[in-house]
Amino acid sequence: MVVTATPWQPDFELEARNSLRLPCRAHWYAQAPDAESVSRILAEARRQGIDVWVIGEGSNVVLPEVLEGLVLGLSDRRIDVLEDDGRRLRLRVGAGVHWDSLVRWSAQRGWWGLENLALIPGSVGAAPVQNIGAYGQELSATCRRVEAVDRATGQVVHLDADACGFGYRDSRFRRELQAWVVTAVELELEQRGCARIGYPGVAETLAAERGVTEGKQASPLDMVETITALRRRRLPDPDVLPNAGSFFKNPVVTQAEFQALQGQRGDIPGAVVPEGVKLSAAWLIERCGWRGYRRGAVGVAETHALVLVHHGGGVGAELLELARDIAISVRERFGVTLEQEPIALQRSGMM
Ligand SMILES: Cc1cc2nc3c(=O)[nH]c(=O)nc-3n(C[C@H](O)[C@H](O)[C@H](O)COP(=O)(O)OP(=O)(O)OC[C@H]3O[C@@H](n4cnc5c(N)ncnc54)[C@H](O)[C@@H]3O)c2cc1C
Repeated sequence: MVVTATPWQPDFELEARNSLRLPCRAHWYAQAPDAESVSRILAEARRQGIDVWVIGEGSNVVLPEVLEGLVLGLSDRRIDVLEDDGRRLRLRVGAGVHWDSLVRWSAQRGWWGLENLALIPGSVGAAPVQNIGAYGQELSATCRRVEAVDRATGQVVHLDADACGFGYRDSRFRRELQAWVVTAVELELEQRGCARIGYPGVAETLAAERGVTEGKQASPLDMVETITALRRRRLPDPDVLPNAGSFFKNPVVTQAEFQALQGQRGDIPGAVVPEGVKLSAAWLIERCGWRGYRRGAVGVAETHALVLVHHGGGVGAELLELARDIAISVRERFGVTLEQEPIALQRSGMM
């Protein structure tokens, strides 16, 4: 069966398609089932001089009230096994697959590699954009290749992991956002693995939820259920209180800068990473008094200082203004620059 792209739909409402529930009207919307359809849509948009914005499930974007141009969605929901030698499983996963469904699919079959990334909202196509990560695991550890359309040429390319420039919540696709449309991801999972239980709360939840105590080996599914339970407890559910998860990345400073900060605040937490010392953005924001703050329709979650929320009736600009004020206060108080994690889509470019 040949599946073709949907006809372009005019005046398309995106409020229900972003986790912050921000009102946004796109001039056009179309859905592409495969890379060839993406190329054709991009060519037609270029011919008509129309901007194209790719949106997955809208869980990491701040949308404006009007998005001039065409919003492109990806509907390839296939999971294909490319290789299975009993030890390693190589998969090609379409960009339109819901991330958490893939995590559960693989864990239910006993494969290791994605278990700690359970319950991260969003699509597979967006996963390499910010190299999603949580509880000590990142996509880059299992991602072997990314299939993408080069927007400049319309060609379908396969980029090996080395060419993807993965970093902490970062990749080439994020740095060159207008250059690529990710159409599929190739992953390599392992039959044998070891549960990562080092993060605070994981071992306790594993014991409480799954009865797996010290000395016993957890399965990938045990880990998925454990991480799911932990995340449900810690993060506000976007369906109840609209949000985009962490609004800022954890900043990394040099050892010398960290020592200076310790001189100022002896209790400042920091984790040594290869690039320097990673600070807790939530801690910095909380110390500036923002947790639970509300300004009209937007605010900061009561339960988590890193999560900005939309109480309803607001617009993206209000949220961005609050984020800017938070970043300024952290800079003034600690001299640390916060980088925004969700991407603000705007006609003049991305923030
Ligand atoms: C409650 C909550 C918790 C979260 N927790 C985590 C977490 O623990 N770890 C983590 O890393 N992230 C987390 N996030 C952020 C989010 O889940 C991820 O960034 C996710 O990958 C976004 O997927 P999406 O399909 O919703 O992308 P969207 O929000 O639709 O898009 C995000 C960006 O990627 C671009 N994009 C989307 N699809 C494609 C594509 N196919 N090709 C090219 N560009 C594309 C978009 O243009 C946009 O710039 C959380 C978000 C929420 C709401």
